[in-house]
Amino acid sequence: MATTNKNQNSDAWEYSSALDTTKVTIESKSKLFIGGKFVSPKSRSWFATINPATETKLSDVACAGKADVEAAVKAAKTALPKWSRLSGTERAKYLYRVARRIQERAREFAILETMDGGKPIKESRDVDIPLAAQHFFYYAGWADKLAYAFPGSTPAPVGVCAQIIPWNFPLLMAAWKLAPALACGNTCILKPAETTSLTALRLAEVFQEVGLPDGVVNIITGEGDTGRLLAQHNTVNKVAFTGSTEVGKLLMRGTAGTGKKLTLELGGKSANILFADAAMDQAVEGIVAGIYFNQGHVCCAGSRLFVEEPILEEVIYKLKQRLGSLRVGDPLDKNTDLGAINSKSQLKVVEGYIRSGVKEGAQLHQLTTKRLPSKGFWCNPCFFTDVQPSHTIAREEIFGPVLSVMTFRTPEEAISRANNSPYGLAAGVWTDKGAKIFEVAKKLDAGIVWCNTYNKFDASSPFGGFKESGFGREGGMQGLRAYVRLGGV
Ligand code: NAP
Ligand code: MG
Repeated sequence: MATTNKNQNSDAWEYSSALDTTKVTIESKSKLFIGGKFVSPKSRSWFATINPATETKLSDVACAGKADVEAAVKAAKTALPKWSRLSGTERAKYLYRVARRIQERAREFAILETMDGGKPIKESRDVDIPLAAQHFFYYAGWADKLAYAFPGSTPAPVGVCAQIIPWNFPLLMAAWKLAPALACGNTCILKPAETTSLTALRLAEVFQEVGLPDGVVNIITGEGDTGRLLAQHNTVNKVAFTGSTEVGKLLMRGTAGTGKKLTLELGGKSANILFADAAMDQAVEGIVAGIYFNQGHVCCAGSRLFVEEPILEEVIYKLKQRLGSLRVGDPLDKNTDLGAINSKSQLKVVEGYIRSGVKEGAQLHQLTTKRLPSKGFWCNPCFFTDVQPSHTIAREEIFGPVLSVMTFRTPEEAISRANNSPYGLAAGVWTDKGAKIFEVAKKLDAGIVWCNTYNKFDASSPFGGFKESGFGREGGMQGLRAYVRLGGV
């Protein structure tokens, strides 16, 4: 049976809305960025991108077909010799300028990100855009120091890179992919996700502003097939992909035996392990942020919570309290905690999982809120108790604001239950005991383990998974490895 949580604040105590009303101009037609110019697609095909919070059309976006992919790859190939021969110091100057320009245009980027993707403005403003700038700064710093990152060898660029990104962190994923590739002397073709192309195209404007040589970065918008054509292209030397495990497996099959380098950052079903000795309020705060950040559209979302059995009641009580104070609604409102689900199809996926949880016998606790706009794609945050490890909601990635709460009795049980997943992206450990943190963290099959915190990102920290969460690392010095050849490899 479902229980609901009414917003605890009476209307008298509700925050007034604090909309960011800065106007951002959006062209009615968003063209492809090839060879340093915005061009109409040879395919003559366009698709609408909408604001998922209002369902209004923002722009018609070009859908790149075969000839457009061909043109973009050709532009990247043509630009490669000059760019790769440029000294690291010169390449760094461009990257620093890009970083500075993202900072200068940060407000515009944040609003556009929120309008196109549905995430709360406080997240685009405080997380996505600053981190995107940080990545360009960070890798600018490496561009002239590659020899120190790989002592004893001479790092050479890989060549033409095809980079395919998802819709959950559109500008940030573009920065994660482009910054290290450019620092290492490669040229790129970036393919944003269908529902969130606009900030990547705005980044193309920044490339023009800083005078990045034509063809060094090309941005082709389009559908899944555009990504497929790009990854399959013979001239491409490296494919970098973030998205679903399903498409990741297709790319792995497609690149096998071709000599193309491949890195995959795929899904996750990450576990938070909460011990009875943890600072409880801080832990609940971190766990809530870990699952409801960006409406749960986060590959490393802490979507499974393992609670030490004696404190289960207390944790459920605190989770319900905190759920009751979350504000769901207009993503452009600075007070909003959860914005819109990115697309109608993703909303259907999330709702399907919530129904399956109820049907399989778990107990649903969901926030009900009066503030939801009449249009748009909305899902109130929720968590399930009485979850069995065999339940679908405990096994599969939901990519929405849905948490599965389970229990454990010993650290060994917590570790084995957390590791019992085909994924291995991230994990969180919450305890007051430093020794326990290290003991547990080193036994978790996860690329990232956060201790007494969650979802903290930094350009200098490597990010990536084990098992079906993919391979290769992005960020940090380790993030350079995918974009260089050492002794021909
Ligand atoms: P997806 O299909 O894997 O999309 C990721 C990117 O790959 C998009 O740019 C997509 O283009 C492109 N693409 C689709 N089919 C392709 C193909 N055959 N070859 C090359 N590129 C292709 O992911 P999604 O459908 O947007 O989301 C589905 C699920 O993936 C989510 O529910 C979530 O579980 C997971 N996901 C994970 C992450 C992550 O960060 N690890 C991010 C997003 C989604 P289009 O957008 O045009 O289809
Ligand atoms: Mg959109």
